[in-house]
Amino acid sequence: MNYKKIKLKPKKEDSLRRFHPWIFSGAVQEKDNDLTEGEVVTVYTTAGDFIAIGHYQIGSIEVRVLSFEEEDIDQSFWERRLRSAFDLRKSIGLVSSDNNSYRLVHGEGDSLPGLIIDIYAETAVFQSHSVGMHEDRLVISEALKVVMGDSLKNIYYKSETTLPYKADLGAENEYLYGGKDVTEVAVENGLKFYPDWVKGQKTGFFVDQRDNRALLEKYANGRSVLNMFCYTGGFSFYAMRGYAKLVHSVDSSSKAIMLTNKNVEINFPDDKRHEAYAEDAFKFLGKINKGDYDLIVLDPPAFAKHRGAIRNALQGYKRLNAVAFDKIASGGIIFTFSCSQVITKEAFRLAVFSAAAMSGRKVRILHQLSQPADHPVNIYHPEGEYLKGLVLYVE
Ligand code: SAH
Repeated sequence: MNYKKIKLKPKKEDSLRRFHPWIFSGAVQEKDNDLTEGEVVTVYTTAGDFIAIGHYQIGSIEVRVLSFEEEDIDQSFWERRLRSAFDLRKSIGLVSSDNNSYRLVHGEGDSLPGLIIDIYAETAVFQSHSVGMHEDRLVISEALKVVMGDSLKNIYYKSETTLPYKADLGAENEYLYGGKDVTEVAVENGLKFYPDWVKGQKTGFFVDQRDNRALLEKYANGRSVLNMFCYTGGFSFYAMRGYAKLVHSVDSSSKAIMLTNKNVEINFPDDKRHEAYAEDAFKFLGKINKGDYDLIVLDPPAFAKHRGAIRNALQGYKRLNAVAFDKIASGGIIFTFSCSQVITKEAFRLAVFSAAAMSGRKVRILHQLSQPADHPVNIYHPEGEYLKGLVLYVE
């Protein structure tokens, strides 16, 4: 173990003793010269005791901790971490012929801060959110191949938009492995879909709504479903399998609507129950009549990406939910979500409460939803919790 060193100010090791994986710049007393962003550093207390090892970065978070033990960060380290992540997904039944799409690595939730890996059939989509993970992408890919064996044929690197802006990083989106013979269709809970990791948003599909889609399927029977912000139509094809009377999917992106139609078609060819509209959500909701739908999904993009945007975001959630309360049929069900990490579930619930109060309708909470088990939250890093949702019954 021969890494450059960082020494902390007195008492600044307390949060690390509780396994919080970030070291803020204000906690650093001194550091070796010539540290390069992304390199591995060892961290010591003022007294000189080893406390952590991690990726050094420039900014308010100065180190993202990879381990609290003195160990080499080599291929064998990455293999151990990835194997632990893979074993967890296998042990909770996410890896099967019925389901081959899941998040393999969820950053801090898998003790790998800055790294996201989603699996779609034989392809891993690798996303770095830190320069350290970007610098280590090749050794991590090698480790990934060892851990996943024959089940993995491709690794697609997609970090152009997730890395902190650094012109000289050379982070093109590209295949790091395979890429010639790509299985196009993945399966989630027995339903097929085309994940578009090359042109699509994020890693190509929103795997984080898997459990919530399965819940929606149970409520869809005989209902007229409106899936707002549908992206590639996940909630729509679950509703169809759940015997919805009709399903309308809406997204402002026409590319998303094309993908939605393709995904519905592969599961339910020529099924006339489904129609999709490329339109702004508020415009669409403004045009429909009260009572047209008795199941509405609201899954908008993150309205707040940072703390400064919280106030406006809460207004946005309130406005959006208020329209849904206005328009939904009596006896209707609303699935409403926020994926903004900076909006707490209490704040979100308050925004939805305000919207309900404005509509004057009687509303009951049936379920409080969250992110699925392949997006685990490290108990020492509550910041990893981001997805929240409510299922509401509206009289
Ligand atoms: N529910 C989806 C994920 C939604 S992601 C799923 O299960 O996969 C958010 C989506 O909202 C994106 O596809 C984006 O194109 C769409 N969007 C953003 N702004 C919008 C607007 N004003 N009106 C309609 N759709 C919008």
